[in-house]
Amino acid sequence: MNWHACEIQAPFSSPPDGLHAGLEAEGNSFPRDSLGLAVNSEALEELKNRKSKRIWIHMGNSHIGIPVAKKHSATSASEQFQYPLDSSTLKQPGIVQQEAFRRVPDRRRTEHPRRRPLRVMKFGGTSVGDAACIGKVVEIIRAELRESKVVVVVSAMSGVTNKLVAAAKAAESGDRKIVARIFKELRAQHEAAASILIHSAAQQRRLTRLMKDIFREADGLSKGAILLRELTPRTLDAISSLGERLSAPLVAAALAERGVASKAIDATELIVTDACHGAAEPLTDLTRERCETRLCPVLQRGIVPVVTGFIGATRAGLVTTLGRNGSDYSATILGAALDAHEVVIWSDVDGVLTVDPRLVSGVSTIPEISYHEAAELAYFGAKVLHPKTLRPVIQSGTPIWIRNTFAPQGRGTKITPNARPNGGGVKALSAIGNLTLIIVGGPGFIGIPDVLGRIFKTTSAVRADVLLISQSSSQNRICLVVSSSIADRVVEGLRREFASDLAFETMEHITFDSDVAIVAAVGEKLRGISGIVGRMFGALDRHDVSILAIAQGSSECSISFLVAKNDMKKALEIIHREFKLGALACPEIAASKSYETQRRAAESAS
Ligand code: ADP
Ligand code: ASP
Ligand code: MG
Repeated sequence: MNWHACEIQAPFSSPPDGLHAGLEAEGNSFPRDSLGLAVNSEALEELKNRKSKRIWIHMGNSHIGIPVAKKHSATSASEQFQYPLDSSTLKQPGIVQQEAFRRVPDRRRTEHPRRRPLRVMKFGGTSVGDAACIGKVVEIIRAELRESKVVVVVSAMSGVTNKLVAAAKAAESGDRKIVARIFKELRAQHEAAASILIHSAAQQRRLTRLMKDIFREADGLSKGAILLRELTPRTLDAISSLGERLSAPLVAAALAERGVASKAIDATELIVTDACHGAAEPLTDLTRERCETRLCPVLQRGIVPVVTGFIGATRAGLVTTLGRNGSDYSATILGAALDAHEVVIWSDVDGVLTVDPRLVSGVSTIPEISYHEAAELAYFGAKVLHPKTLRPVIQSGTPIWIRNTFAPQGRGTKITPNARPNGGGVKALSAIGNLTLIIVGGPGFIGIPDVLGRIFKTTSAVRADVLLISQSSSQNRICLVVSSSIADRVVEGLRREFASDLAFETMEHITFDSDVAIVAAVGEKLRGISGIVGRMFGALDRHDVSILAIAQGSSECSISFLVAKNDMKKALEIIHREFKLGALACPEIAASKSYETQRRAAESAS
């Protein structure tokens, strides 16, 4: 919450075009990000005596008039009388009496929001994909506000981050034209959405100014990369963060347009991360502190913060990103930092499905799934969740819901520390394509000391995630699977590490096959259930799908194996059918209570 000394020239004869997310007055120097008035005691006296002179403040569809004196400035926060713009001040348009304001003597009061349940609601790229989608998002938030306080987290509009990354890469290769074309397209896309969603002239002006500033920044960043023909991870993060920095103010303005007091907040002010650009990790304590001082007072005022997903900043304030698809992670980082009751991830699917619906038809929605199962699915490619999403809430056990922005009446999937047992067995499938199988081997291999240690030292040095490893018992062949995007780096690193062994032929070869995919079956205690593996591999064998490698016993709730990339879809279809996953969830869903009923029951129990 930014409080500002009152610097308003009175009188105003009519309400100026005004503020939606915050407080704004025409023709004065009142800062645009202000959310309340702060005047010193002397000014307060004047306020009381000059009732004919007032400043008009618009919030959503309402406006209020506050009697105001001439210019005043307070010297310290503790001297000020602060007037939060809470809902009671909005009940009656017109002149608001002094009593209608709540007096807040100092900031400490603002750090204890009321005990309404707090929900962090994250909306993904498709959910904010265009003006119509943002309209749906606004309605979902408005409905939720009847029961809870809400912190909104938004992704960039769908496709925007991809385009920003493409622009950054084009800048690195010096292609000014492509850079300019992409930024022009992005600008048009955001302006088009703004012109449909926002009708207030002042809001339109404000958004246009803000977008102009962001695109100016984009130009500056890309010019640097063009000049140097270099794209550092830091610059790439700065450029790819712009999508969320555009979408958050747009959603906040759209909310305000529908009468919801809201404020766009850049997560660089909230999520403090390490300096690992492209895959930054949050620093929990600092993030919690920032959320308490920056977000809680906003919530206290009844204002909905709309936070940029995907991004954070180092202690020194450099923009970082949490990794592609990372807004889910942003939501749980904020949920944990704020001790939220729930985190709801709104996407374009009805929940966690038995398999990616783009790969297999006839999928069903899983009503409830454990953290462990969801993490395995995400790790093995289920895009519906970023693989790190569950990490921040493991300690608190905060429930996560996956729900559909385009079918909000649906129940969705609840992800809990320990989902209801379903009798065991395969619950869902996932797969990752575009992988490379690297085979390190040779007959004399057994004599080479610490081969596995040296392999992992190399993969860690080149920052490669090994998704699957398998080793033959005689140790003369080790298979590892990595993303094809980093496979060259890994192969080069291994060839360097084992250069002398290759020269003396104690190691015969380091080869690779870049057309493979991992398929994973997930279910609680899956590995302990006899017959599952046999049934799965038997079905694949009957349909001529060869298994190239099987993962060594890593997680007890997943079985993962490698197939040729061309067999991936077929393997998923076969297993989905074999375990009758298409029929799994439907009866349960029909029988299960709606999201709202369940939630109310849980709340009254707690
Ligand atoms: P958002 O933009 O909302 O973050 P994403 O595209 O990142 O959405 O994730 C949602 C997509 O994840 C779905 O459209 C679906 O195609 C894909 N997906 C993959 N596996 C699953 C699964 N098991 N359940 C649900 N969706 C899945
Ligand atoms: N906009 C980012 C991306 O496309 C983050 C996200 O959507 O979750 O990767
Ligand atoms: Mg996503």
